Amino acid sequence: MAQTLLKVSGLKVAYGGIQAVKGVDFEVQEGELVSLIGSNGAGKTTTMKAITGTLPALEGQIEFLGKSIKGRGAWDLVKEGLVMVPEGRGVFTRMTITENLQIGAYIRNDKAEIAKDIEKVFGIFPRLKERATQLAGTMSGGEQQMLAMGRALMARPKVLLMDEPTMGLSPIMCDKIFEVVQNVYEQGVTVLLVEQNASRALQLANRGYVMESGLITMSGDAKVMLNDPKVRAAYLGE
Ligand code: ATP
Repeated sequence: MAQTLLKVSGLKVAYGGIQAVKGVDFEVQEGELVSLIGSNGAGKTTTMKAITGTLPALEGQIEFLGKSIKGRGAWDLVKEGLVMVPEGRGVFTRMTITENLQIGAYIRNDKAEIAKDIEKVFGIFPRLKERATQLAGTMSGGEQQMLAMGRALMARPKVLLMDEPTMGLSPIMCDKIFEVVQNVYEQGVTVLLVEQNASRALQLANRGYVMESGLITMSGDAKVMLNDPKVRAAYLGE
């Protein structure tokens, strides 16, 4: 049986008196691509932030590889193999592309392998190679998203969490990002993808979860969900 890598149970998160996540359960097994979809303000980003310790969990459990990771920070979790590509990308704008990629490998000290992995990332994103010595802050949103993904891959993640990687990007750039998500997954990285583009997210995924008003309202096989009239009406514009 596949191993459970990430398990969230009874998670509640609040901003002051306002509960944004009201008791959420979900899990990600090794070798899965899981998509978490739902409309604006559903609580998806808040959930991701609680997993990576950016926000405190009010209640509930967050386990990675069977151990509680509650309260541990994003940088610390990279060591365990849980790596986040945050919403808004969070690249270091005053550093070059190459420096950003090197930072992604900060937990490693295998210099030759790091250099090889940088070349691998450049192979996935030739645009980053062309701009290797350029400051990250001078790149377009799509290019910064590629860099954020490349930087995450430099840590050789077991699980990659991606929070709305296509937000604000052109259709062509969205296609490229989805293609890379699939590629990364096919290379053996388990993926939890948070997306507003429900159709694309479910096409890529093995399993899906729908989040609404701070709760998981639906879950199951992604292809079944994709054909579910309720999902189609609510999220696929039909
Ligand atoms: P989106 O797709 O728009 O990013 P989301 O599903 O990721 O939506 P969240 O960003 O997690 O949703 O927001 C969940 C709820 O928490 C929303 O009602 C939002 O207004 C509220 N919220 C988010 N951040 C804060 C904050 N810093 N302070 C107060 N309320 C917040």
